[in-house]
Amino acid sequence: MYPFSYTKASDTGEAINAGRHGGRYIAGGTTLVDLMRETVERPDTLVDISNLPLRGITVTERGGLRIGALESMATAAANPKLRSTYPVISQALELSASAQLRNMATIGGNIMQRTRCTYFRDVTAACNKREPGSGCAAREGFNRTHAILGTSDACVATHPSDVAVAFAALEATVHLLGPDGERRVPFADFLLKPGGTPGREQAVGKGELITAVEVPAYPRPLRSGYLKVRDRQSYEFALTSAAVALHIRGGVIREAKVAAGGVGTVPWKLPAVERALVGGRPSDRLWARAAESASDGARPLTHNRFKIELLKRTVERQLRIVGDIA
Ligand code: SF4
Repeated sequence: MYPFSYTKASDTGEAINAGRHGGRYIAGGTTLVDLMRETVERPDTLVDISNLPLRGITVTERGGLRIGALESMATAAANPKLRSTYPVISQALELSASAQLRNMATIGGNIMQRTRCTYFRDVTAACNKREPGSGCAAREGFNRTHAILGTSDACVATHPSDVAVAFAALEATVHLLGPDGERRVPFADFLLKPGGTPGREQAVGKGELITAVEVPAYPRPLRSGYLKVRDRQSYEFALTSAAVALHIRGGVIREAKVAAGGVGTVPWKLPAVERALVGGRPSDRLWARAAESASDGARPLTHNRFKIELLKRTVERQLRIVGDIA
């Protein structure tokens, strides 16, 4: 590990000032410390933000939920209001990482986490994300777990977060506070596809701090849930996943929110699936027809072609699980 300085911010102003001068924010540290040990990340200054008043889950004026950025994954998942209104979020959190990690890791840190691409974490491998212009070892290497959607010639790494898939499906908003004040970024614009600059992963400016994630209100009842397909049943990242929320009234689907994980360079919203669902009546035929477009636009690599069919089946299965709740 390289030498670094450490400071603990006592208020948001102090944190932002330190961030503006190049400090890296750290809270739970469950990603950043690993990467520093592996010398993938070499920050000069760590700014500990864990004492800032950015916790709590509250109902917004508009009837949605505001989740503080420093809320731990475990306490967020256990929150009764969150569990009852957006099971898709609590399920995504509980299917993430390990219990120990969920106790430490925060909501803000989770959506800022970096890819699990093994070549990114191996400093001897070519990786445009870690070292711009060095190449992408995954393209010609073992790429079974890599992305089939949103890729570029520069990078094919998946985004590893589960809860980010739920936030993408529900069209959440990220609240930021920085040197120029507050701003809100739709979740769809917050995580960035790699394009030619895979090292830039989030729409966050220098010194900006995530303060909360806001989930909008939806008509009730809203049925929702998260399905994660992986190589083993715990402490593993998704090969594919599906976050689904449906508002069904009078036997007709009035609103459908669907996104996929494990397949995209960012959580992958599925608007064609949503369109196929709205106005339909729940049935096995409808779930299968809607899921058929889940992999549209996919560009598989040598070892991950199986994800095209697996994604369709994951989405279809989760539509059936959520839509068939009596
Ligand atoms: Fe690096 Fe992205 Fe290629 Fe992985 S897929 S080696 S993160 S450039």
